Amino acid sequence: MIANDIVVEINYTLRGQDGKILDQTRDEPLAYLHGHMNLIPGFERQMTGMQPGEKKSFTVEAKDGYGEVREDLRFGMKKADFGGHPIKEGAMVGLQGPRGETIRARIVEIKGEEVLLDANHPLAGQKLFFEVEVVKLRPGSPEEISHGHVHGPGGHHHHH
Ligand SMILES: [Zn+2]
Repeated sequence: MIANDIVVEINYTLRGQDGKILDQTRDEPLAYLHGHMNLIPGFERQMTGMQPGEKKSFTVEAKDGYGEVREDLRFGMKKADFGGHPIKEGAMVGLQGPRGETIRARIVEIKGEEVLLDANHPLAGQKLFFEVEVVKLRPGSPEEISHGHVHGPGGHHHHH
């Protein structure tokens, strides 16, 4: 059954409060390493103890999902700060944060020379509705467990 360090393969559908599908697996299941914070905490908690073939529907509150909307992640910039790069409402942009990190933010509105941005996750503040089917389980390899994620089909494809 699903526990820490188990590689879990699932099919799932994620719906928002309005019932609209936000995300789902299509051709192949999603594989993830359980217990390494690869998926939102409320999701992994619900999956713990499930068996292959088992299905479940459950909701995840925003605080156990992508978090509440944070006002401090909404901010303004000047058009000139974009150095002539084309900007458009709704577009995602990568900005350099105070410690050199990349912050991904969405352009919410352009008002004259002022650009309003939002770096909250698009699903922040939302209650999430999941339907999940467990396809397959296997123990994670020592390498996967040390990296904290799955390698191979359905997982990461990389070497490091
Ligand atoms: Zn890796």
